[in-house]
Amino acid sequence: MKHIHLRPGMDRRVKAGHPWVYANEARMSADAKALTPGTLVVLCRADGKPLGVGAFNPRCLICFRMLGPPGETVDQAFFSGRLKRALNLRQRLFEAPYYRLVHGEADGLPGLVVDRFGDVLSVQTATAGMEELLPEILAALDDVCAPKAVTLCNGGAFRKLEELERYARAAKGSLDGPIEMQEGGLTFLADPLGGQKTGWFYDQRDNRAFVAGLCRDARVLDAYCYAGGFAVSAAAAGAAHVTAVDSSQSALDLAAKAAKLNGVEKRCLFSRAVAFVELARLGEKGERFGVVCVDPPAFVKSRKDLKPGLKGYRKLARLAAGLVEPGGFLFIASCSHNVSAEAFAQEVSRGLGRTGRILRAAGAAPDHPVHPQLPESAYLKTLVLQLD
Ligand code: SAH
Repeated sequence: MKHIHLRPGMDRRVKAGHPWVYANEARMSADAKALTPGTLVVLCRADGKPLGVGAFNPRCLICFRMLGPPGETVDQAFFSGRLKRALNLRQRLFEAPYYRLVHGEADGLPGLVVDRFGDVLSVQTATAGMEELLPEILAALDDVCAPKAVTLCNGGAFRKLEELERYARAAKGSLDGPIEMQEGGLTFLADPLGGQKTGWFYDQRDNRAFVAGLCRDARVLDAYCYAGGFAVSAAAAGAAHVTAVDSSQSALDLAAKAAKLNGVEKRCLFSRAVAFVELARLGEKGERFGVVCVDPPAFVKSRKDLKPGLKGYRKLARLAAGLVEPGGFLFIASCSHNVSAEAFAQEVSRGLGRTGRILRAAGAAPDHPVHPQLPESAYLKTLVLQLD
């Protein structure tokens, strides 16, 4: 294996357990620059002492991601070992086989996400390293989970960072459309090949349950409803009526079908709209809701979007809070890695424009564990407030 050397003094973070090296921290020799993106290498200190084995991409800002200690063999058995550990954790957390099975760095598999929908696995590779290792990963998934079908959901824009092509296809078996899955005793539809990301947002599981618990007899608004996770949970928990919007018609179709599957379609209205426009329109009309839920896509996709993105969260908080009736509740979320929990809470507090109290500040469900040395892996920030 090729050796990549850190620049002098650049080993402290890696030694403390951080799994990434940035391009300006490594010595980029002509040899290093010529390596195929995703090549497995030994990372060494400036004086030659090996620190670990990982995947290297000379064309990427994060040029190295750690997979194991020096001497680690990264093969199918390696992946089987990591997958078994990840599976044991999820089996302890959940009774039914519906969860995020692998959550990247925190599961020792940087750049890899696997969501499980019973005997269908939905895989996302975000790095050239994991893309190169797909044959070993797929063999290990077969070994550990024996799935009927495996989909590769690699349509995400973030793949551009590693110069990877974007595609979605079945790697094993076939899928003829969305699949039924269970959450909180309800049936939903996930669409790994035709939907967004892996097909379902498991990260909001606990937040959906908490918000649903506030919805009995309430009029509820869900402004970024995707496949109906919050909206249908709210209706099933006894909401008087749920208005749900999304900009994607195919997401709305999944949500409407989920409402029907759970027998709550008469109390749900799904319509296509741009959230900011719809929130403002409802506000002008004087509409008010007992519970308003806003779970938008990431406003800050890279550090350069930080300022406008933070402003976006403040505006979202202002528009959404304006629709909450006195004594009602607001659920607001940010899934931007580059926004800290503190910064998000500050923008929300500035945007509110009314008094109230925070009932719950949370993040993703525990099948999305956080890497202790990588605060960005706690990407989801959520707040539930009661407003006066
Ligand atoms: N709350 C959902 C997940 C939301 S993901 C759940 O619990 O599963 C973000 C959603 O926002 C996606 O469905 C996407 O289609 C939608 N979206 C993106 N931009 C939007 C916009 N400007 N207005 C409304 N919806 C938007």
